[in-house]
Amino acid sequence: MTALTIAGCAKNVNPFFKTYTNKYGAPPFEQIKNEHYKPAFAEGVKLQQAEIDAIANRADAPTFANTIEALDYSGELLKKVASVFFNLYSAETNEEMSKIATEISPILSEHNDNIFLNDKLFGRVKILFDGREKLGLTPEQNRLLEKYHRNFIRSGAGLNADQKLTLRDINKRLGIAELTFGQNVLDETNAFQKVIDNETALLGLPESVRQAAAEAAKEANMEGKWLFTTQKASFIPVLQYSQNRELRKELLMAYTMRANNGNDKDNKAVINTIMKLRTQKAQLLGFETSAHFILDDTMAKTPKAVYDFLAAIWAPAVNKAKEEAAELQKMMDAEGKNQGLEPWDWWYYSEKLRKSKFDLDEEALKPYFKLENVRQGVFDLSTKLYGLKYKKLENMPIYHQDVEAFEVSDADGTLIGVLYTDYFPRAGKRAGAWMNNITDQYKKDGINHRPIICNVGNFTKPTADKPSLLNMDEVETLFHEYGHALHGLLTQCTYPSLSGTNVSRDFVELPSQVMENWCWEPEVMKTYALHYKTGEVMPKALMDKIQLAGTFNQGFVNTELLSASLLDMDFHTIKDTTDIDVAAFENASLARMGMIPEIIVRYRSTIFNHVFGGGYSAGYYSYTWAAVLDADAFQAFKETG
Ligand SMILES: [Zn+2]
Repeated sequence: MTALTIAGCAKNVNPFFKTYTNKYGAPPFEQIKNEHYKPAFAEGVKLQQAEIDAIANRADAPTFANTIEALDYSGELLKKVASVFFNLYSAETNEEMSKIATEISPILSEHNDNIFLNDKLFGRVKILFDGREKLGLTPEQNRLLEKYHRNFIRSGAGLNADQKLTLRDINKRLGIAELTFGQNVLDETNAFQKVIDNETALLGLPESVRQAAAEAAKEANMEGKWLFTTQKASFIPVLQYSQNRELRKELLMAYTMRANNGNDKDNKAVINTIMKLRTQKAQLLGFETSAHFILDDTMAKTPKAVYDFLAAIWAPAVNKAKEEAAELQKMMDAEGKNQGLEPWDWWYYSEKLRKSKFDLDEEALKPYFKLENVRQGVFDLSTKLYGLKYKKLENMPIYHQDVEAFEVSDADGTLIGVLYTDYFPRAGKRAGAWMNNITDQYKKDGINHRPIICNVGNFTKPTADKPSLLNMDEVETLFHEYGHALHGLLTQCTYPSLSGTNVSRDFVELPSQVMENWCWEPEVMKTYALHYKTGEVMPKALMDKIQLAGTFNQGFVNTELLSASLLDMDFHTIKDTTDIDVAAFENASLARMGMIPEIIVRYRSTIFNHVFGGGYSAGYYSYTWAAVLDADAFQAFKETG
């Protein structure tokens, strides 16, 4: 009784229990406090469970509307709190939130199982599915029905009672282990600081990089020193330019060895737990390995198809990388270095080689890649391609001062959605870049609810006298994430489970990678590659150099990427649940594929958050898979002008 009273009381002040008043349906971030999450999750679960019970226990015969549609529209409060919580858990987290995540994870896992292991509910879904030809459904409705039926089967609806209990237990433990993995990576990222107090150690670093490091030190109360971290925006320029080989090595090793240091944040044991549980789950559901289970729901379908696909491109990639390594070694030899090329030399010498081959210096490009201009560039491109219009929104609720909001509308002024951008690294943000929905697009009762989409990155920060100036990789990443944002924004679906990026995982990288194709097109560059001081368009000669250098270092890039895809597949095709030595497993996997020692796999196991913490398990190949599709798609744009 007491608990109910407290929850009842809190409802008056808990923003999740009120209708959002923002015109676009944005959550009132400034009012949301950590203490609001748990009561809202609890109430959200309770309300959805009541909806589910009502659907499952109906006396009348199942119809698409009273079962599938009702199911898909259920859980409004839960979606409301979960989307805010998990967006912020990635982009603006804190210790309290990670505690809440650990507490809430088993509750959500159990709730999900209570839906998908509900026999009566599955009975209704099955009746509809078996008779689907006679239901007169639209293609969209048919797809939704098939998706639900498949989800029920894949969630264990066909298992016996004992197996269901085992599965529930696996799901709970798996949820916690995956959270722990991501949390360890974040904690280890934040824990590392390389402080330099002697300027000679900075030899080779461009002024902009020194200045950023000096400001980082100042922010950490170490004025007069230089601070480097394992954030890419901080350490990649060191790898590219520092003449200090020891420094390069130290930073690269610190980055790749995160969560692999034998302390309480070490992920090797966590990987063991995750892999055992995933394998156990797959086998319980009748699949040989977790890759077989996961891939059954994708375009690729089987591990064999993925391995065959990767094998066809692995050999050419690694051969190209070997040629590149030989060229870099030659350069080192010419400098009289008498040292073998190591991973921490690759960026440095490839940067030099790029300069000597194409007279292209990435530092010289950066003034033309002011973040705001690049963002305007993707906006303008989407105007040209899809007729979209943008308006900066000044008074939107935001969760951090770095966040900016834009209204996106159609050529005729119809609202398409809202875009949030959040581009700079900070302690509460996970590494990498991503797109997320803050609210979903769907149609109900004649209203087309337009989505709120978030693009998050960890790009080079502005300094006291310079705006944020991006490197080429960052420009590409911004275009990439904007492709996901467009996918989320332009969607026109009736049902929330089908809208936006809710597509097959090896398709989802197509819209994002298509956008990457545009960023170095001179026609597009002319619109955004403007000098941050003078506004001058990048000289044609410089653009030509970018075009010429187009495939430079691609052996490295592809080898790094494909080795991670193969490592992912090797983990997920483990057939038994005995203990593995993660380090030995990784080494054996890399040796088997024929990895060269001068390159480190893009993600070593203990930091492979895509695969062990996120949704890309047995799916890292998707980037390469979609690259084949996006090359076709881009060609279609070109052919039609
Ligand atoms: Zn992507």
